[in-house]
Amino acid sequence: MYSNILRHPGPTPIPKKVQLAMNRDMMSHRSKEFVHLYRETTNRVKPIFGTKQEILLIPSGGTAALEAAAVNSVTAGEEVVVITVGAFGNYFVSICEKYGFHVHKLEKPWGEACTAEELAEFLKPLSNIKAVFATYNETSTGILNPIEQLAKVVRAQTDALFIVDGVSCLGGAPAEMDKWGVDILVTGSQKAMMLPPGLALLSISDRSWKVIEENKAPSYYLNLLSYREWAEKGMTPNTPAVSLIYGLSAVCDLIEEEGGFSETVARHELMKNMVRESMKALSIGLLTLDEYASPTITAILTPEGLDTGAFLGHLKKKYHLDFAGGLGHLQSKMFRFGHMGYCFPSDVLQAVSLLEAGLQDFNYEFNAGAGVLAAQKVFLEAQKK
Ligand SMILES: *Cc1c(COP(=O)(O)O)cnc(C)c1O
Repeated sequence: MYSNILRHPGPTPIPKKVQLAMNRDMMSHRSKEFVHLYRETTNRVKPIFGTKQEILLIPSGGTAALEAAAVNSVTAGEEVVVITVGAFGNYFVSICEKYGFHVHKLEKPWGEACTAEELAEFLKPLSNIKAVFATYNETSTGILNPIEQLAKVVRAQTDALFIVDGVSCLGGAPAEMDKWGVDILVTGSQKAMMLPPGLALLSISDRSWKVIEENKAPSYYLNLLSYREWAEKGMTPNTPAVSLIYGLSAVCDLIEEEGGFSETVARHELMKNMVRESMKALSIGLLTLDEYASPTITAILTPEGLDTGAFLGHLKKKYHLDFAGGLGHLQSKMFRFGHMGYCFPSDVLQAVSLLEAGLQDFNYEFNAGAGVLAAQKVFLEAQKK
């Protein structure tokens, strides 16, 4: 009867307005109406990326756009740096290795960010790097890498392109692609973008286009030059995910209704603080430091004596509260609280309250109500500003 309270890092809940928009009658992707929809919608998405460049749309999951960014920019045998701080950073490592790039891996323990100093040091002995790959928001650990600072280092020390995976935070975290000097920025529809899975979005700097134009590595469906060529006509090379583009247009309406993208970003920041303060009040550990904490997902350490799987199963069964488990070697030690996209402070209060109910069911000793109170306090203080 009751629908799940989906507090995952994606897929995430879909607003009613977006759902209804996606039910619109189908149209031809070679029609004037489509060209209008495509141009208007991609223009409206630009503030989310912080770019004046075109937004390209690939009918795919986020991974295909990561692969497109890699295969269009680098050829086999060339040297790249991949910054990895968790499971999704490792996606870039795998893609680059599959394509035969010479990968220099800058790896950090799970739960830590990569700092500008670390990258600067790592790049020092390297002289022939074609691209540096980084994850903006590491979904497995709830880390937001300092992309602006990392971009500065890449520009100062190399001629490399800086290619960034923004899949689990674009739409909820600030991004200034042009200003920061990010060369390719990629995201997917089903995380903070309030859409179902199936649409990847990416934007590409002028510097990258020069590299892409000269790159001889073959690609067909993911050939970005062909996406650019068709985008000039307001279309995509093949059949696009038309319904998801209807939905994307509705997402832009919702962001406008909220007061513009900076308000959407501020809401995510607030939810992050609510979640973190509530866990601290419950003496429950967090995997990351506040300084690098993600605005879209929080990694919470399972309290001593609780079995992660059993606890999450119980929350879902009894309270319909659906948190995501941990990944990799942290699977049994933590769980993840998604607060991205169509999620509001009221949803955070609800989830924290149900989490506390679950803790009581497991006879976990804590100061009942302290988590909700702390989250509420953060929320109320934000209302005063
Ligand atoms: C989810 C995710 C991906 C993969 O996206 P898919 O749509 O599953 O292909 C890549 N990077 C990050 C950071 C993610 O969170």
